[in-house]
Amino acid sequence: MARLTQAQLFQVGNNFEERSPDDLLRWAKETFGNRVAAISAMQQSGCTVCHMISRLKLDIPVIFVDTGVMFQETLDTRDRLAKEYNLNIRTLQPEQTMEEQTAQHGVLYLTVEGQKQCCHARKVEPLLKMQGEYDCLISSLRRADGGRRGACPILSADVEMNAVRLNPMANFTNEQLDAYIAEHNVVTNPLHQQGYSTIGCNRCTTPVMPHEDKRSGRWRHLGMQAMYCGINPTDTDDGTAPALDLPLDLVDRILGVKTDFMI
Ligand code: SF4
Repeated sequence: MARLTQAQLFQVGNNFEERSPDDLLRWAKETFGNRVAAISAMQQSGCTVCHMISRLKLDIPVIFVDTGVMFQETLDTRDRLAKEYNLNIRTLQPEQTMEEQTAQHGVLYLTVEGQKQCCHARKVEPLLKMQGEYDCLISSLRRADGGRRGACPILSADVEMNAVRLNPMANFTNEQLDAYIAEHNVVTNPLHQQGYSTIGCNRCTTPVMPHEDKRSGRWRHLGMQAMYCGINPTDTDDGTAPALDLPLDLVDRILGVKTDFMI
């Protein structure tokens, strides 16, 4: 095994700034083979990545974390994408139902600390159970979404999953996203047409007013104290410099070099 640092991934990602999402998705398949998967919450960008994977015939599985309290429209969108784009969508679920969790801990999502616990149990832990299955996870974060995502890297290290995170849509503008969806008639979550700019669990997501920030509909009841769930490590990055442990030949392919040893 060899170490692959966040700094090295940032450097490779910097060289990818001019590459299109199509190119980056092809690179992921060529580099990681069958050890790459996409994560989608069935929002606009995620649905678009699903369409790209299908259009490019990349045979990359899609992971969807069903917290047990998703909107029916989101579940229907997942099912439509699987059927119409012939995608292998793998649904992960938390250990406890929301009812079981509430019976044990109370209504967690009503407080800032409880939200962190709830999101970790219902979103992050199901993903962590897959640790070791994939060396690369494709997300659909975009810099145009602003906030912590305003500078999201194309490549980063997901230390808990010991996997590279790829954001092929990082540079996709709102105009490019709208144009792609219109041109390809991409299946998207109908809640976007009902004022939901971003979509998570039905307990913690509301529509937003036209003048509001895009993420203001998430955890609105907690004010500005909760903005992200933690399923995307760069949203909650504490500024440390993590590293992954991956096979040396894979590290060579990611870096585009041939090394005899790693320090
Ligand atoms: S978004 Fe709300 S209900 Fe969903 S996992 Fe997080 S705190 Fe729990």
